[in-house]
Amino acid sequence: MINQDTLKIKLADLVDYAKKNLSLRIEDESFVVNALLDLFKLGAPAQAEDYKDFQTDIVDPIVDYAIESGMAKPEERILFETRLLGIVTPMPSSVVDKFDTIAANKGIKAATDFMYKLSIANNYIRMVDIKKNIKWEHTGKFGKIGITINLSKPEKDPKQIAMAKLLPKTGYPSCLLCPENVGFAGNLNHPARQTLRVIPVKLGGENWSLQYSPYQYYTEHVIALSNEHRPMNVTSDALFRLLDFVDLFPHYFIGSNAALPIVGGSILTHDHYQGGSKVLPMFEVGERKNYTLPKFKNVKIAIANWYNSVVRVSGKNKFEVHEVASMVLDKWHDWTDESVGVISKTTEQHNAITPIARKEGDTYIIDMILRNNRTDEAHPFGIFHPEERLHNIKKEGIGIIEVMGLFILPGRLKTELETVKEYLTGKQNLNLKELSNPENPMSKHAQMIVQLVNDHGSNCEKVFADKVVTDYVNNACEQILEYTAVFKNDEKGQNAFEKFMLEGLGVKEA
Ligand SMILES: [Zn+2]
Repeated sequence: MINQDTLKIKLADLVDYAKKNLSLRIEDESFVVNALLDLFKLGAPAQAEDYKDFQTDIVDPIVDYAIESGMAKPEERILFETRLLGIVTPMPSSVVDKFDTIAANKGIKAATDFMYKLSIANNYIRMVDIKKNIKWEHTGKFGKIGITINLSKPEKDPKQIAMAKLLPKTGYPSCLLCPENVGFAGNLNHPARQTLRVIPVKLGGENWSLQYSPYQYYTEHVIALSNEHRPMNVTSDALFRLLDFVDLFPHYFIGSNAALPIVGGSILTHDHYQGGSKVLPMFEVGERKNYTLPKFKNVKIAIANWYNSVVRVSGKNKFEVHEVASMVLDKWHDWTDESVGVISKTTEQHNAITPIARKEGDTYIIDMILRNNRTDEAHPFGIFHPEERLHNIKKEGIGIIEVMGLFILPGRLKTELETVKEYLTGKQNLNLKELSNPENPMSKHAQMIVQLVNDHGSNCEKVFADKVVTDYVNNACEQILEYTAVFKNDEKGQNAFEKFMLEGLGVKEA
């Protein structure tokens, strides 16, 4: 453990870092220094010295000191780090003022650059964790798809889980996305958010907030959230808010998860959108078929050439694009075509849309991904959801990021896929009884292992085993995308898609 004199120097280094990287103002310096002295019960500050790495030279030694001196428990490491960095991050109002000044003088892109860099520099976005992710690209049937094994979400150990269960439930903040999270101290059930800063935005006349996602599944992954805790709802008003967003931030796309389980995201209880740099694979694909709408001569409507069923609406007039997109939403809501298993509602609503807006030059584009969450006896997980045989790769709902071709796979796959390779190289013997025992964590991969060993034997070179397993995952991801298509990419499915376009939407072939 560092001694108190060294601690004082590290704290001075932290303040120096905050002045250089977090826009901490000189007027706030003494205030922040004194807050740090108070936190650590120190008498007087020291002078900053040279440091190289923010994390290993400043943050880690200070947090180690806090843990070893009993100020925080080992399992509260990230909570304490966030508390510490929250003190040196300027107040929310000061960040908003700076954002507005940059936007007015240098443009909106410079302003979001400032916000993004700040969110990384104060570890709100923990790049040290995000860099652990394993990422690759695969060129598939309809273009490239991205695959990430997500190792950035720290796994909770059993002790943490047990302690979290004992905590009283306060119900505050109501959820992870509520605006009350700004500055929240956090606990083992709810992440600390003292380093979170948000930018207020008006969307469709409502008060919303913009923040970066702490997980950064792609470059400049942002979240827009309603200031009101209310459920997700994809309505005509929501489509207008998306178009407002791309007017404010033309360098970002923005989209909403469908508002139903299975086809929606993990948080349905708080209305929010996801956006960011226009780097998602679906944006790169062209159109398969173009149509015209007699009433809207300047709006293009098309089927995008993608794995799932995407109606693409585009045009230069925001209000016309909005009107046509709202019409697609409306018509899809009630469209039933039993020949392809699409039933809009039974006792509950099943048809839904994942809309994603972006702006290219002065053209607005909304991709409307048609979804349906119906289940039946043969498909308990969803008729348009991957079958159980693919759940070893991805079991969770297939939300907005995946349907656009970027797969976020669970961190457990890192070690599990290495074990799969051991069956191919002969390091592990294939014992079906052992492998199918539900106690065995590899049992979920039994089908994959048997298939791969049947196809390639158990005497493969390591390099070949690597390739075989990666190919399997790539192929599984492509299949998952195809499962989400309500109109399959075969003659029957495409004819049904055509029927929806001509009869459902009333468009004409271009
Ligand atoms: Zn909420």
